[in-house]
Amino acid sequence: MRPLRLDTAAVTDKGPRRSRNEDRFLVRELADGSVLLLVADGMGGESGGDVAAQVVVDILARFPGADGKGHEPLVAALHEADDRIRALADEDPEHEGMGTTATVVLYGQGSAHWAHVGDSRLYHLHRGRLRQVTTDHRFIQEFLDDGSLTPEQAATHPFRNVLEQCVGCSEVSPDGGSFPVADGDRLLLCSDGLTRYLDDGEIGTSLATQAPAGTVAETLIRTAIDRGGRDNVTVIVAEAGPADDMQADAAP
Ligand code: CA
Repeated sequence: MRPLRLDTAAVTDKGPRRSRNEDRFLVRELADGSVLLLVADGMGGESGGDVAAQVVVDILARFPGADGKGHEPLVAALHEADDRIRALADEDPEHEGMGTTATVVLYGQGSAHWAHVGDSRLYHLHRGRLRQVTTDHRFIQEFLDDGSLTPEQAATHPFRNVLEQCVGCSEVSPDGGSFPVADGDRLLLCSDGLTRYLDDGEIGTSLATQAPAGTVAETLIRTAIDRGGRDNVTVIVAEAGPADDMQADAAP
């Protein structure tokens, strides 16, 4: 299969209402040429949210690669982060109850492998059509799925922010999978600071424009902040393109 290049743009903003940014992200090219993308949205404790999110970043900053095992090594990395965060919380009462979401993608050789916990999201734009790859681990999700809550009711439900699971909150069971990525496809990773303010139709329209990934990322962030900005907001936009430049670089 022809290798593809991935152009990425990552932007985070604490927003005008929050004093600190507890979102973290990572964009990293591995030795084998694959690219790792991560968004982690920390929460809990007086100072714990950013600590928990940073643990996931630190563990994935050492991630050696999938070695042909698909998404399973990513799932294992999130279990490792869960153990580490709970150990830190046991050591320091200030960090009690801290945890984080984690949505991570490993892209290489035309495939994306992913693992996910919480309510950050991964979207895939293919031929102009947007698909939400991950499912939110929210307490109210099953009521949304079976139709007993409408999206409008969910938006104001008192438990709308309660997570069914998070990294560091014990009993973590990451979702994971793989899918093919074609030339011209775009991936979006984001924290809920984006998806509280933009619906999938708006996100799809932004991603489907011809604008460069960096412009799309900035536009998404700006729109979320203009509409409320009550949360930290983080986006990574990645576009798959032909690896012609890399091949040209490699030519004598
Ligand atoms: Ca958030």
